[in-house]
Amino acid sequence: MSVRVRYAPSPTGLQHIGGVRTALFNYFFARSQQGTFILRVEDTDQSRSTDEALQDLYDTLHWLNIRWDEGPLVGGPCGPYIQSQRFEIYQKYAAELVESGKAYPCYCSEERLANLREEQAAAKSKEQGYDRHCRNLSAQQRAEFEHQGIKPVIRLKVPLEGSTTFHDVLMGDITRKNRDVNPDPVLLKSDGFPTYHLANVIDDHLMGITHIMRAQEWIPSGPLHVLLYEAFGWDVPQYCHLPMVMGKDGQKLSKRHGSTAVREFKEKGYLPEALTNYVSMVGWSYDGVKEFFTREELEQVFTLEKINKAPGVFDYKKLDWYNGMYIRAKSDAELASLLTPYLAKAGFVTEPCSARQQERIDAMVPIVKERLKVLSDVVEMTRFLFEDIACPPVDQMLPKNQTVETTVQVLNATIPVIKELGKASDEDLEQRLASIATERNLKINGVFMPIRVAVTGSTVSPPLFDSIRLLGLETTMIRLERAITTLTQHMGK
Ligand code: GLU
Ligand code: ZN
Repeated sequence: MSVRVRYAPSPTGLQHIGGVRTALFNYFFARSQQGTFILRVEDTDQSRSTDEALQDLYDTLHWLNIRWDEGPLVGGPCGPYIQSQRFEIYQKYAAELVESGKAYPCYCSEERLANLREEQAAAKSKEQGYDRHCRNLSAQQRAEFEHQGIKPVIRLKVPLEGSTTFHDVLMGDITRKNRDVNPDPVLLKSDGFPTYHLANVIDDHLMGITHIMRAQEWIPSGPLHVLLYEAFGWDVPQYCHLPMVMGKDGQKLSKRHGSTAVREFKEKGYLPEALTNYVSMVGWSYDGVKEFFTREELEQVFTLEKINKAPGVFDYKKLDWYNGMYIRAKSDAELASLLTPYLAKAGFVTEPCSARQQERIDAMVPIVKERLKVLSDVVEMTRFLFEDIACPPVDQMLPKNQTVETTVQVLNATIPVIKELGKASDEDLEQRLASIATERNLKINGVFMPIRVAVTGSTVSPPLFDSIRLLGLETTMIRLERAITTLTQHMGK
C-alpha cells in the first residue's frame, strides 16, 4: 500500500517552527516512500480560523518549497481539502453512527451542562465531564425532544468497560481504560458543525491516510480516535507522534525564546534552505554526524526510525550558523539579488536600482558575505556606504583606557598612511598602522578601532581596508578629519 500522509493545521495563527517541522517530516517521509503528501485545512473552529492564517499557511509552505500533491489550490481525488467545505460529509457519517447505535443525540441544554460542571467542581468529584444523561433515551423520549424543536448534539458512545490501545511507531503501545476516556464527547454540534475529532478521523479515513504524523500534544486524543475508527469499522492508520520542540531551557518553544512565526524568520533574512535543513535536524538525525542535507537528500534518506524519542531542541544560534553557511554557499550574484530588497527597504537603493547602485552592491557583496548571519544584517553593516552618517559620539571612538589626546594623535598619524591605500599594498599599510600603535605603546586596536568607528560609524564593519575602498578615499578623509575635529573640540572642554 503506498504511503499517504498529511499535514493538517488549523488556520488559527501564524505558521510556527513546530508546525513546519511536522509539515517537513510528513513531506520528506512521503517523498522517501514515493508516497503522497496531502495538505488539509482543519478549520472546523470557524470562530478561531482566519483568512490571514490561511494565507500565511500557503505563503509559508511555498516559501519553504513544500509542495503538496493533494490539497487546497491543487485539488485531488479526495477533495475538498478544506474541512469547512465538507460539513455534509461529517453530518452524513455522524448520522450513520447514530443509526448503528455507536453514537446518540443529546438534548441537554447548555444550562444543564453548566450546572453539571459547577456541581462536579463543587463536589471535587472524580466524575468529570458529561454524565451520559441522554445515552439511553428511548425512541419515544427522543421523538418528544425532536417535537419540541430541540436541536441535539451527537455524542460518541464510549464503551464503559475495557480499554483501548493504539500503537505509536516511536512510543510503542499506549493503552487507556475506556472509563478514563472523555465520557461521550460531542462529535457533531447542534448547528451541524463537526468537532475536531469527528472531522479529523473521517478525513484521515476518506483520504486514505496511512501514517498520522503529528505533534505529541495529540497523544491524549489517540484512544478516542481509535474508538471512533472502531465505531465506524475502519482500519486505524499508523501513528507517529512527534516529540516536542523545546527552547534551550527545556521549555516548550514559545515567543519567550524568540521568533517562532516562520514569517518573521523570512523577514529577518533566513534562507528557506537553511531553515529547512536545520528544522529537519531538530529531533531527527541521519547518523548523528552529517549536518548538511540538501532537500533532495532529505527526500531520499528520511525515515521514521531515526526520529528521536526525546524532545528536540531548537537552538537559535545553531540556526544562525546554518544560515551563515548557506549564505556563503551562494554565488555573489545570487546573494546580491537576495540582499537588494533589504537595501531598498532601508532606503539605500531604489528598486529596481540604478546602474551605479548596482555597481556598488556588486562591489560590496563579496566583502559582507563572510560576515552575514541573516540577510537583514546587511543594513547596519553597510549603512556607512549609503548614508552620510553623523560623526559618532566621542566615547564611541575611544578605545578602552585611551585618552582623547592620544586618539587625536593616532588619527592624525594614520591620515598619510591611509592616503596611500591603493598605491602601497594592504600588508604594507597594515604594518605602518601597527607601528603607529607600537611607537605609542598601544595595542593594535587602539589605532584600528578609532579609524573604523570614524569611517563606518560602527565597531563592527566589514574589513577596514575593504570598507574604505568601497566608500572611496575622499569620503573617508572627510570622515577622519571630522572625527579629529570633534575629538579636538572635546579636548578643549
Ligand atoms: N488540526 C490539528 C492541528 O492543528 C491537527 C492534528 C492532527 O494532525 O491530527 O494540529
Ligand atoms: Zn444529554
